[in-house]
Amino acid sequence: MASISDNLSHIHQEIDKALSQEKSGRKVRLLCVSKTKPDEMIKEAYAAGERCFGESYATEACDKIERLKAAGLNDIEWHFIGPVQKNKTRQIAAHFDVVESLDREIIADRLSEQRPEGMKPLEVYIEVNISGEEQKSGCAPDDAEKLIAHVRSKPNLRFTGLMGIAQDTADQQKILQEFSMLRDMFVRLKKSNPELVNLSIGMTHDLKEAIACGSTEVRIGTAIFGPRVYAQPRLGDSAKLSFIGGGNMASCIFRSVLKHCSPRNITVSGPHVEKLEHFRQDGAAVTSDNLEAARAGSVIFLGVKPQVLTGVLEELAASGTDFSDKLVISMAAGYKLSSISRILHSERLVRIMPNTPASLGEGITAVAYGSGVSAEDKELVRLLLDGMGKSVEGSEQDLNVIGVIAGCGPAFVYRFMESLISESVKHGLDEQASREIVEQLLKGSADMVIHNQDTPVSKLREAVTSKGGTTFAGLTKMTEGHFEDTMHEAVEAALKRTAEFESMY
Ligand SMILES: *Cc1c(COP(=O)(O)O)cnc(C)c1O
Repeated sequence: MASISDNLSHIHQEIDKALSQEKSGRKVRLLCVSKTKPDEMIKEAYAAGERCFGESYATEACDKIERLKAAGLNDIEWHFIGPVQKNKTRQIAAHFDVVESLDREIIADRLSEQRPEGMKPLEVYIEVNISGEEQKSGCAPDDAEKLIAHVRSKPNLRFTGLMGIAQDTADQQKILQEFSMLRDMFVRLKKSNPELVNLSIGMTHDLKEAIACGSTEVRIGTAIFGPRVYAQPRLGDSAKLSFIGGGNMASCIFRSVLKHCSPRNITVSGPHVEKLEHFRQDGAAVTSDNLEAARAGSVIFLGVKPQVLTGVLEELAASGTDFSDKLVISMAAGYKLSSISRILHSERLVRIMPNTPASLGEGITAVAYGSGVSAEDKELVRLLLDGMGKSVEGSEQDLNVIGVIAGCGPAFVYRFMESLISESVKHGLDEQASREIVEQLLKGSADMVIHNQDTPVSKLREAVTSKGGTTFAGLTKMTEGHFEDTMHEAVEAALKRTAEFESMY
């Protein structure tokens, strides 16, 4: 394996090569991104001459900074580049020289207020969401100017830069387009903000594109320190889980999380305690007091119906509990993250849409993350859901589509099975035999699809359909009966209903 100093000389060469094309004589700062990496690696990079380091996780970072200062590494410039959580601003204001990831006014207020006396103003870059991906942090491009004005009004902050993260894609044109958008904004805003000198764009995989688009600072982790390995999260004994609402899906998730968490650390609430008896028998605490359950948990599952969720959230919010300390996971269909955050004042939110086969560990669960969810939170969510089958992560819009295809889907499939069973019975087979035949049919057909990943499903269909044969005759009738149109209309109707629900909350 190449040493860190070899990696660094290679990166500096890459930067110089990219710059040599433009013949401008300008320099690009290298920020060494050391998140998740041990002190020893930082010391090696320091010994090779590096003085700018970037970190993303506040607690980990502040511990490192203190240790390295104590070890005599006093002249490092520390940049915070991860999502800033409200309850971490004091630590960050006391330890960092630059915060690159500012994207909300409230964070600016707190950082300025909490910057310790005697330290020079905290340098701040505004992070702009240039990829337009919902789950990415950063303010919307249109909101940047207002946020900059706000930062400039703060006595202990100094606005000096813009930061952006391009979409993680192989599409070079898309990356160039996103970086150019930020560069244009940088050039325009510079005119009225003389202190704006930093354009922080470019990571390991898009360094060249970033420099071509005028980057003044690249943030490089992997190419210097190697790939990051995130420790397998374990729910330690201190992790407490709460379920508000104890219905079928809550039971299903409960069983999934029992693999990782002692039932002693779980509290379940619902209006009728007697209906929570099976949770109690499994060792969990049960209560009719939602607030008691919410206070007990560091992770809270909201399993109540969307119609009553607003009332429940308002009750929780009225208690004054700080929900940014808690990871809140909602399974209320059609209830938007923004509606939850409006009431709870936290962005550490997750929406999930499981489907009923999850109760057998064969489900497909759609997951959408709020902007305050950290990489560790995501690992935790994956861990908690792993007993339910597969999960797919996407935007809230994706979640709605998956909710229809996979959530309503079992009912569509059952409807199809019912028809086949009843046809079989009409022709004289008994009910039980008909059911067994149709069960095995669905299972076997699904396995054929799963085991032939390179074959389109239509090809599998053609393989059982010889022209003029029996299957062909049957399929022709399905086409004449507008099977495709029926499925299309079924999906559209369900999506429309989803949108109607979303607009209600
Ligand atoms: C982790 C991280 C980087 C470094 O990414 P690499 O692909 O490892 O170079 C840069 N910027 C931000 C905001 C990061 O979180």
